[in-house]
Amino acid sequence: MVYEGLMVSVSGVRGRVGEALTPEVVATFAAGFGAWARGRHASHAIVVGRDSRVSGPMFHRVVLAALQSVGCDVIDIGMAPTPTVQLAVEHHHAAGGLAITASHNPVEWNALKFIAPTGLFLDGAESASMRASVEAGFARATWDQLGAVRTDTEACNRHLDQILALPFLDVPGIRGRQFSVALDCCHGAGATIVPRLLERLGCRVTAIGLETDGRFPRSPEPVAENLRDLEALVARTGADVGLAVDPDVDRLALVDEGGRAIGEDWTLALATRVVLRHRKGPVVTNLSTSRILDDVAERGGSRVIRAPVGEVNVAVRMRAERSPIGGEGNGGVILPELHLGRDAPVGVALVLQLLREDARPLSAIVGEYPRYAIVKDKLDRPAGSLEAVYDALKGAFPGATVDTQDGLRLSWPDRWVHVRPSGTEPIVRVIAEGPSAADARDLVRRSRAPLDALARA
Ligand code: MG
Repeated sequence: MVYEGLMVSVSGVRGRVGEALTPEVVATFAAGFGAWARGRHASHAIVVGRDSRVSGPMFHRVVLAALQSVGCDVIDIGMAPTPTVQLAVEHHHAAGGLAITASHNPVEWNALKFIAPTGLFLDGAESASMRASVEAGFARATWDQLGAVRTDTEACNRHLDQILALPFLDVPGIRGRQFSVALDCCHGAGATIVPRLLERLGCRVTAIGLETDGRFPRSPEPVAENLRDLEALVARTGADVGLAVDPDVDRLALVDEGGRAIGEDWTLALATRVVLRHRKGPVVTNLSTSRILDDVAERGGSRVIRAPVGEVNVAVRMRAERSPIGGEGNGGVILPELHLGRDAPVGVALVLQLLREDARPLSAIVGEYPRYAIVKDKLDRPAGSLEAVYDALKGAFPGATVDTQDGLRLSWPDRWVHVRPSGTEPIVRVIAEGPSAADARDLVRRSRAPLDALARA
């Protein structure tokens, strides 16, 4: 089967609503996933949740029916963060989960994300097996074998309770500080959980974007340039910190008390700083995450292990390495003692714990560390083999440390460059970080040269 314009990746299928992503496509993948998942597990139950997108209710109804049609019992948690769906899969010992969300993508997108019984996203092998089973076709249930649908309205409450029960989280201490917090949920699913979390942590909250209608008033990715309204809100209210989450609440970005968005790389770095005071073990992140994490880990008596890009790759490596904290530089914090998924609410709790322990403004904590600049570039993927490009780059940078897990990453003590073909688009990404933007731009320019030469060949 070929679906024009549909982006199929390891963890899900994504498309523009009414173009590549139709009810028919969503039904095929939801039913195929359900048939595949229940065939591998004792349970016939699949947990379903969605973010706030305008197309969410329509695809939600499609997914419920599709799962019933292959004999899966549906546990419907309604609108919820993606990490809440992951936790509910574990809680119910379900055969899997489906999150209906296009994460930080604009409103015209939606997607299905496939969750394994462990609560992790499908890995490469599981995803290939599932897609092969969808291609091969699957049996539908007869009238007497159709699945049932039941509603679970407690998933967000359980998620909150689990965060507040984390042993090193000093809930009375945080409550005692009565932090002033500015919050921007961008009309996403964050409003179902983050305000209540802040309330239970005794914060005084001023919020924007709590309407869960999916009509995003700005680009919903929580990168610094999209957080101007939150910066202004922090400045106006004199908040201790500003918090921005993406529509499915697995990414968190911060604004400091001076009203400056500090960049999403800092979320995991600050969470790591606080967790390493209480837990030992290596920090795991992906190959494109800022090396500020290396500085924070080193000062915390730990080290960083890098995995290929993709949440599940980081999660699987964390499990293997018994890592206490990890995630992605895009604001995705993973705390395995809660679960192995990026979780913005747990990131919020960790940031407040840090402010409680350090008793200094956020900008002063950030100011202790070196500054780096990241420059991201992309180009059309050349027709030839990228191996020749990698060889040329290794030759051009003989002193670098080489990592070939995912494209090519070259690193030095204060800078790195990562050349990597996208998994979903016909492009190559070139990302570099250095002490200054000029250093990073220079690394990108020198690393693009063999790619541009290949494109001209
Ligand atoms: Mg997301």
